[in-house]
Amino acid sequence: MKHELAIDLGTANTVIYQNDKVVLDEPSIVAIQSRTGNLMAIGHQAQLMEGRENPGIVTIRPLVSGVIADFNAAELMIKGFIQKASGAHSKLFTPSYKLVIGIPKGSTPVEIKAVRDSSEHAGGREVYLVYEPMASALGIGLNVLDPQGNMIVDIGGGTTEIAVISLGGIVASNSIRVAGNEITKDIAEYLSRQHGVKVGLPTAEQIKFKVGSVLQELPADVEVPEPYVIRGKNIVTAHPVESEVTYQEIAHCIDGTVHKIEEGIQQVLNQTPPELYSDIVENGIWLAGGGALLRGIAQRFTDATGITFHVAEDPLKAVGRGACAALKHVSHYPFLMR
Ligand code: ADP
Ligand code: MG
Repeated sequence: MKHELAIDLGTANTVIYQNDKVVLDEPSIVAIQSRTGNLMAIGHQAQLMEGRENPGIVTIRPLVSGVIADFNAAELMIKGFIQKASGAHSKLFTPSYKLVIGIPKGSTPVEIKAVRDSSEHAGGREVYLVYEPMASALGIGLNVLDPQGNMIVDIGGGTTEIAVISLGGIVASNSIRVAGNEITKDIAEYLSRQHGVKVGLPTAEQIKFKVGSVLQELPADVEVPEPYVIRGKNIVTAHPVESEVTYQEIAHCIDGTVHKIEEGIQQVLNQTPPELYSDIVENGIWLAGGGALLRGIAQRFTDATGITFHVAEDPLKAVGRGACAALKHVSHYPFLMR
């Protein structure tokens, strides 16, 4: 029997589903031995090495801004994750897989081919690709084949994918290279500029999880986080320092980046035909991806557009859930690319 896997190959995280269960959820990163090019570690294990490498080791995130930046590393990663997810340990025997893989709407033909080739080298015999916003919509449980306008905003690590879907197709879309990574960078720069503390991106990301907010005043249903105590290195003296940062400061320093995402959303709304626009006003707009977890984001976008935003349940898994739903009925969904 063919193994069936649904794969969300994100810039930040890869999620693999099998039979409605998450069998792999790891950061999209590999560690490679510089001299030989051999794979040393993958996912969580490779992430532990990030920022701690020596000249013998490089860590690579093969996907940057939603696209494959390093084809060789991407192939090693895709193969490694498929093997790990399916529990296949034998190097001699590659099982054959039926796969559904999410790809960014903005992918070029070369990138699409790279994903397809890598997954075929990893044993994919029947490979279907699906655009990520379509997969998110399925994962959220929307009726994507209906003559109804639905809109998805998926804020990932490298890209924000914005799409309007109706009748099983993408009617209007925008893929912008502004998302979670940019927000993390804003935080690191702010801490260095305003608090005189040098922190690495992994620490800045932790701060974003703990006190990330897009509003100076959070709505009543959002829990207000305590200020976060940063421990880092003073940028001038290199002495260890401690400093406190509040969610209001984070909202302030990421404001410009969040505004760029708002502009991207507005552009898609401008392109949306009036009938579908009315559906969207009625149904609201769905937020997915890790960026949907930023405090206050639904409220902020609702205020900016005048249309209600909803955060998807478990937004980091929406694409994976949708790819998994598609895998069960491949002939039912005309948008799957064989
Ligand atoms: P991708 O599809 O590109 O792999 P994901 O949907 O997995 O991206 O989201 C990853 C991004 O979401 C990262 O930038 C991460 O920092 C961010 N993220 C994850 N959890 C949270 C959170 N609780 N608050 C804010 N941002 C988050
Ligand atoms: Mg994603």
